[in-house]
Amino acid sequence: MWIKASGDLTEHLSQVTTSVSTHFVAMGDQTALVDASVWSVREELWEKVSAVVETIDCIFITHAHFDHVGAIPFLREKSPELKLVSGRKTADLLSQKEFCEKLRQQNIAATTACGEEFSCSEGDWFKSLQIDLILSEGDSIDLGDEVEVRLFETPGHTDDSCCFYFKQDLALAAGESLGQYSGREKITPSFASSYEDALTTLQKINALDIKLLSLPHSGVLSGDLVAKYLTELPLEMERYRKSFQQQIEEGLLIEEIVATVSADWVEDGRFPEGPFHDAHKKLIEEMVKNSRVVDDNQDQEEN
Ligand SMILES: [Zn+2]
Repeated sequence: MWIKASGDLTEHLSQVTTSVSTHFVAMGDQTALVDASVWSVREELWEKVSAVVETIDCIFITHAHFDHVGAIPFLREKSPELKLVSGRKTADLLSQKEFCEKLRQQNIAATTACGEEFSCSEGDWFKSLQIDLILSEGDSIDLGDEVEVRLFETPGHTDDSCCFYFKQDLALAAGESLGQYSGREKITPSFASSYEDALTTLQKINALDIKLLSLPHSGVLSGDLVAKYLTELPLEMERYRKSFQQQIEEGLLIEEIVATVSADWVEDGRFPEGPFHDAHKKLIEEMVKNSRVVDDNQDQEEN
């Protein structure tokens, strides 16, 4: 089953859906939200989260992309005690002023494109994005009432990508480590940092028992659809890689491949035109680059 709308999933887990993102909200003795979308949906996100829980105690960040951290400053105002939790690499990225400023500029651009005004200073933005608690591979957080959340490092979409596994509900918040689902025959892989890492990540995820799979721009997959998705994803990865390789061999330029693929994705409804279009094009570009065949001899000489 494919669950897109906001609503309760289990006794301890709800889904909150904004116009651009979907999130787990976990309820133990403490509460947690996974990822924080973009700045422009901050009010919509908080409105929906606060219909489920009074305050947020933790926000788990899956990776340091602009559309996963954007509402943090606003959510910190609403829940001043909240702790930001991530893996080591995400925390390292967010500790860099220049990197955070890039994320802020992307959020400004996305907000302006929606015809709204952005109002968070560079200093406030940077301060609010600092991680309060870093988890290493396999570390857990106990939210009480038998809600335990474990971090797995799952690079491939980005080098810092992580998943959060809610043990009691066999639910995985996958960030973008496992790509995106837009309906039958529409699985979009995401090996923007490394194809090999994305495959290793998939093997790691396959070892887990998963009944609910949350993909941040798709919603939740449940039941048989989880296994189906995890079986089809590596086939789609391979299909994309081969197709990119072939087009490169035929002499197409990377920007030509990106233009065709992004137009296809807009046409079949995977990715809308609008403020996220540049980010999607960048994603395709990185995947094309990661599809190139490395010349073994040349590689050895260089080493
Ligand atoms: Zn991302």
